[in-house]
Amino acid sequence: MPVELILLALSPIFLVCIALEYYFHPTDYALKDSMQNTLLALLHQASDAIALILLMPLFYWLAQFALFNIPLSPESLLIGFLLQDFLYYWFHRASHNIHWLWCAHVVHHSSVRMNFTTAFRQSLLYPVLGMWLFWLPMILLGFDPKLVFAIVAINLAFQFFVHTKHIGKLGWLEHLFNTPTHHRIHHASNDHYLDKNYAGVLIIWDKLFGTYVEEDANITIEYGIKGPAPRDNLIAINFAQLRHMLKSVRHAHGLKAKIQAMFGYPSTLDSTSTETSSIEFTLTSPHSREETND
Ligand SMILES: [Zn+2]
Ligand SMILES: [Zn+2]
Repeated sequence: MPVELILLALSPIFLVCIALEYYFHPTDYALKDSMQNTLLALLHQASDAIALILLMPLFYWLAQFALFNIPLSPESLLIGFLLQDFLYYWFHRASHNIHWLWCAHVVHHSSVRMNFTTAFRQSLLYPVLGMWLFWLPMILLGFDPKLVFAIVAINLAFQFFVHTKHIGKLGWLEHLFNTPTHHRIHHASNDHYLDKNYAGVLIIWDKLFGTYVEEDANITIEYGIKGPAPRDNLIAINFAQLRHMLKSVRHAHGLKAKIQAMFGYPSTLDSTSTETSSIEFTLTSPHSREETND
C-alpha cells in the first residue's frame, strides 16, 4: 500500500470510535467543530501526500549516503519504531517551542473541545514548514524511506486513540505509553500543564527529558491554547499563526530580533490578528463569528 494512504485506510476504525463516542457522549461534540476537524484532516492528508510524492526522490537520493544498509526484520522494525517515536518527541517539543513549527502545530491545539475528531485537526502546513526534516536521521542511518514514512503514519494512527475524555487511567500502561490521561494534559492551556507530555506512543521520553507531568485531580482542564485562536474557517485556522509570525518578523528591529520572532518561543495572536484573518478570509456565512466559541 502507498504510505500516503495508510491513515485513510484506517479511517473506518476511526469512524466507528467517533460514532460510539458521539452516541454515548453527544455533548462532547459540536457539528461545526467536528466538520472542521474532518476537513482539516483531509487537507492535511492531501498536502502530505503531495509532499511525499515530490520529496521521495530526495529521500532516496539521500539514502545512498546512509551509514548502514538496514534489512527489514522484526528487530530492525522494533528499533525503527523506537527511534521514530524518539524523534517524534523532539519534533513535538520543538513544535511547541519554536514559532516556525508552532505555525503548523497550533492547528491541532486550537479547538476548545476534546474528542476523537480532535486527532483529525491537523495543519496542511506541516510538510511546508519541514516536519519531514525530523525523519532524515532515520534515512541517513539506513532505514528505507518508505518504511520510515509508514512508521510515521502508524505512530500518528496510534495517537488517534488518546484523544478522548472518556478513557481513565490504564494501570501499568500509564508508566510506559502515552495514554488519554497523559494526552488530555497535553491539550490543556492551564499553566501547570502547559508544554508537557509531548509523547507520541511512549511516555518514557517525557520522563527522561523532564517534560512529564501527572494528572492533578484538583485542576479542571481547559482545552485549547493561550490567547485567541481563529475557529471561523479553514484558511484562517491553517494560516493565521503564520501571518502573525511573518508580521512579527516584519516589525522586529534588527536581524537578531527577526530571528527571535521566527525561531524563538511562539507569541500568541493579538485579537486584531484573528479579526483581520476572519475579515479577509471569511468563506463561511456572516453569522459564523457568533459561533466561534462553540
Ligand atoms: Zn502538541
Ligand atoms: Zn493531540
